[in-house]
Amino acid sequence: MTRTALLGTVGALALAALTAAPALAAKPATTGANPFASPSTLPFEAPRFDVIKDADYLPAFRQGMKIQLAEIKKIADNPAAPTFDNTLVAMEKSGRMLDRVSLAFFGVVQANTNDALDKVQTEVSPLLSQHQDAIYLNAKLFQRVKALYDKRDSLKLAPEQAQLLKVYHEQFIRAGAQLNDADKAKLRDLNTQLSSLETAFQQKLVAAAKAGGLVVDDKAKLAGLGDGAIAAAAEAAKERKLDGKYLVPLQNTTQQPALSSLDDRATRQALFERGWTRAEMGDANDTRATISDLASLRAQKAKLLGFPNYAAYVLADQMAVTPEAAQGFMQRMVPALAAEQKREAAEIQAQIKKDGQDFALQPWDWAKYAEEVRKAKYDLDDGALKPYFEVRTVLEEGVFYAANQLYGLTFKRRTDIPVYQPDVLVYEVIDKDGSALGLMYFDYFKRDNKSGGAWMSNFVQQSTLLGTKPVVYNVCNFTKPAPGQPALISFSDVTTMFHEFGHALHGLFAKQTYETLSGTNVARDFVEFPSQFNEHWALDPKVLAHYAKNHQTGETMPADLVEKIKKAATFNQGYSLGEVVAAAMLDLEWHALPADAPKQDVDAFEKAALAKTGLDVDDVPPRYRSSYFLHIWGNGYAAGYYAYLWTEMLDDDSYAWFKAHGGLTRENGDRFREMILSKGHTEEYGPMFRAFYGKDPDIGPMLENRGLAPEGK
Ligand SMILES: [Zn+2]
Repeated sequence: MTRTALLGTVGALALAALTAAPALAAKPATTGANPFASPSTLPFEAPRFDVIKDADYLPAFRQGMKIQLAEIKKIADNPAAPTFDNTLVAMEKSGRMLDRVSLAFFGVVQANTNDALDKVQTEVSPLLSQHQDAIYLNAKLFQRVKALYDKRDSLKLAPEQAQLLKVYHEQFIRAGAQLNDADKAKLRDLNTQLSSLETAFQQKLVAAAKAGGLVVDDKAKLAGLGDGAIAAAAEAAKERKLDGKYLVPLQNTTQQPALSSLDDRATRQALFERGWTRAEMGDANDTRATISDLASLRAQKAKLLGFPNYAAYVLADQMAVTPEAAQGFMQRMVPALAAEQKREAAEIQAQIKKDGQDFALQPWDWAKYAEEVRKAKYDLDDGALKPYFEVRTVLEEGVFYAANQLYGLTFKRRTDIPVYQPDVLVYEVIDKDGSALGLMYFDYFKRDNKSGGAWMSNFVQQSTLLGTKPVVYNVCNFTKPAPGQPALISFSDVTTMFHEFGHALHGLFAKQTYETLSGTNVARDFVEFPSQFNEHWALDPKVLAHYAKNHQTGETMPADLVEKIKKAATFNQGYSLGEVVAAAMLDLEWHALPADAPKQDVDAFEKAALAKTGLDVDDVPPRYRSSYFLHIWGNGYAAGYYAYLWTEMLDDDSYAWFKAHGGLTRENGDRFREMILSKGHTEEYGPMFRAFYGKDPDIGPMLENRGLAPEGK
């Protein structure tokens, strides 16, 4: 029984779908049978996208859940005393059909959806959540797991078996299996209230963001935006029957993209304030009452489960382990970060003066004047870079090349494997010894029916118990070229390709017995480590020279362009790091409230929490304010927003280790694969990192990489 996450980039959707492992014996497939009823006969058990129809998913989900519940009942009711095999191995083997349909469905619904698939998702999501409760709150099943756990030292388990027992036991307890019946009822009630409040928050926020767009009467007030954006604003207004006016819609963050180009200061201020107060207008879309209820109910849930606050509950099975560790990690950045914010603010204030203006910098001025500073300082034009980044060349001569140099992997195009959309490319991944490692799909181009952002996940998860090899995919949203034109991408897109492939390597190198512990099934504050780490190779001189070639002339990117990319990478980090740190600290403050705390006044609480950060929160407000912080109130990142920063520390530190040991070599790559990438969740994260590096992670390389002075060394 595993949870599969789509691993997205910062802020992107991370959808957790309950999937579950294998049925004991599925009926042999008969003609016309549901394509998920038996394992795929394709190489690597790849999904049968040649025969799967939209109408196959819902019946397969229902059948898959039914089969697994019967399997679970059999395990729980087994008259024989519990053993590792008749309980844990049996659970690992249960739910094969549900596993197959979930992995295929959630891959396709994110990347290539339609009305029918959307409808299936709406219908199946609550069913999957109830299915999970039916398993984890099954008292007889938990008693068997607990009996094994209580005598774990006498069971003579191999290390991976011992870890599986520990992880299952923990999952049951975190789901409330240990509570008495009265408390279980309370928990179910809290969960129901929480889930409806989270849904209410999401719905209010969607409406608030829509209503919050800035409407402008006079085109002159939008000067600086560019003709295309102004035309789009006129069109957006028309759609809302505001003919002759202009509408600038809100993005989900505090800073709005248009703020970097709007010339009129009053318009900038108005747009910023529309965003800042979007969900605090005292109308039906005001989220503040919902938030204070959510914070309070979460604190009560944590108390019921034996934790002092919700952050302590969430962090207990993460790498950081305690809220204090996550908080302390961020506080170590504050001195250098605050100093950099001060320096950047002064630089921007000077640019405002240079522009002949005489006002004091406000958050709505930052992006515009930072952009002017950037142009003056770095002279970097994205358009000049693009001819060097053709997507297939970047993939085959860059991403694959780095994996070959580090890990000895090679890649063979497979045109015989069916895909869910004709743009999808499939490769077989061949290991250093010539054996088949797994299968890899790349779905790079933007479509109207694809979610935003970029992500990785599996169609088939690796498990030697189940005899499965990994089938992995990367999905991105690059602009599709006109027919016959080369697909040229930005350097930021190149970085995304390396990032998502880093997740893919984590999935491909998995060599676990049990699916639950396999590959990327790790904590949120660990999972972005392999992906962010892999980004570093995009700028490695040997790798860059191998892939960054002019698509027309074949000429390698000139050294001065490479230099500009490297220098511009550390620009404006006081702002971009600062807004994330402020949001992450605000998140942890909300979830540090004890169960007996009174309901909070949201604005007063937020003000006090931000004042405690030690950062310049007046010029650099948090990336998300409490009232529109979807990650923590609606998207499953409660007390977890820090994870993006935490994994950045791990990856920058590991890259520093590589640099100190000769950089891009097979020896270094093999070591990283052996000690990190192939481990799944077979060990705890802290010891895993220490074994690789010989010490605890250090924040210095991350600050250096962000262009911030290392802390007082
Ligand atoms: Zn990622």
